[in-house]
Amino acid sequence: MDNLVHLMIIETVKKILQENIICNNCLGRQFALLITGGKITNYDRGLSLKSYLLMETHSKILNNIGDQDENIDIIKKIAENGMFQPAVTTLEKFGINIEIKKGCTICKGIMNKIPYYADKVKEKLETVQFNNFLVGSKFNSEIIENEDRLRAKYQLKWGETIKGEFNREVGKIVLKGLKGKFVEFNNPEVVAVVNTIKDEIELNINPLFIYGRYLKLIRGIPQTHWICKNCNGLGCEECNYKGYKYETSIEELITKKVIEICEGTDAKFHGAGREDIDALMLGTGRPFVIEIRAPKKRFIDLKKVEKVVNEYAENKIIIKDLEFSDKYRVRKIKANSQLVNKTYRAKIEIKSKVDPEQIYELEKKFSNVIIEQRTPLRVLHRRVNKIRKKRIYSFKIDEITDYGFIAIITSQGGTYIKELISGDNGRTRPSVSESLGNIECNVLELDVIIVDTISID
Ligand SMILES: [Zn+2]
Ligand SMILES: [Zn+2]
Repeated sequence: MDNLVHLMIIETVKKILQENIICNNCLGRQFALLITGGKITNYDRGLSLKSYLLMETHSKILNNIGDQDENIDIIKKIAENGMFQPAVTTLEKFGINIEIKKGCTICKGIMNKIPYYADKVKEKLETVQFNNFLVGSKFNSEIIENEDRLRAKYQLKWGETIKGEFNREVGKIVLKGLKGKFVEFNNPEVVAVVNTIKDEIELNINPLFIYGRYLKLIRGIPQTHWICKNCNGLGCEECNYKGYKYETSIEELITKKVIEICEGTDAKFHGAGREDIDALMLGTGRPFVIEIRAPKKRFIDLKKVEKVVNEYAENKIIIKDLEFSDKYRVRKIKANSQLVNKTYRAKIEIKSKVDPEQIYELEKKFSNVIIEQRTPLRVLHRRVNKIRKKRIYSFKIDEITDYGFIAIITSQGGTYIKELISGDNGRTRPSVSESLGNIECNVLELDVIIVDTISID
């Protein structure tokens, strides 16, 4: 009974060799799932199968078993189609000279060139900085189809994909030549793709993520780049032919120099929420992550980055606490920005005379209350029109002034503070304006002084 499996494999190999020109890798790959876990490669498997078939047939000739012409013919096929030098030498002993055929019909000789491709990958990888990498590949669809056809014809069920083998074997050689690097399957910093069709190596460099916090020290800067709506960035009279609405943005101030330092192509800015254009961001600062795309350099000194960015930003903004991060942090700060509490300092203008006692009563009225805000008119063009419930934790009067008062307000993330004060024509309730007897109240200045980031960090 044990012989059955043995016969199946070796008979199959014999048939394959009679009908196909096939290299060691491509033959061995059809049995890749047999003998796993060791250091044996598909090349070894192919070599073993050809060697075994040759030995068995040779022994049959020497023992005069079976049809001798048939036995010689099998060795000829191992030599010609198997491109197997030991079979050529064996035949020479019987006075038969035979030419090895060239070019595996499955891989077209690509598997023979693995060391050549590994060299090219190594050379290409030397142009970028990385800790870990992965090798990928592109094959002509004809090659994949050749293999599919072979497997169907001989009912081969132990194989792995040609790409799987190629990527692994190239990767092994590349890894040997690189000190201190490792292969990363899930989230590699660089993927070197061997394009076997064009004989080229393409590098896919994954983004570099840097976390930090920013302070915004002057008003009138948006967080992200605002393209002029009138011309869609093409440049028109309204935007002074610049294509954008504001001179600069926090995004631009932070990313411009980092892109240069990392030699990236561009960058994306992810803020943990945003303050209004005319609001300052003070105190401990607002967390952000920047995503630098295709960085050639990732071994950078973050202290130096901080210094360069802060010099470039000329005290419009300041960044601090930089650290290397990842895409999961981006998801986290995005998801949490609505949950995170914020504390504001607001200068509030009251349009009519109000008794200071009435103003101080606001502290009680807005201590730990839930307000309802219908989407403010000023953002209705980009936000869904709905009612949001937000909690105001505390409302402290800092100072009574000639124009009104200054308040320190702590509220749930996503609260519209300007509307909490003005009432936004009854769209926010209750509001400060409503509480003072529907007197017109406006925010003159609004600064974020604390972004509570316990749940972010
Ligand atoms: Zn091959
Ligand atoms: Zn324009």
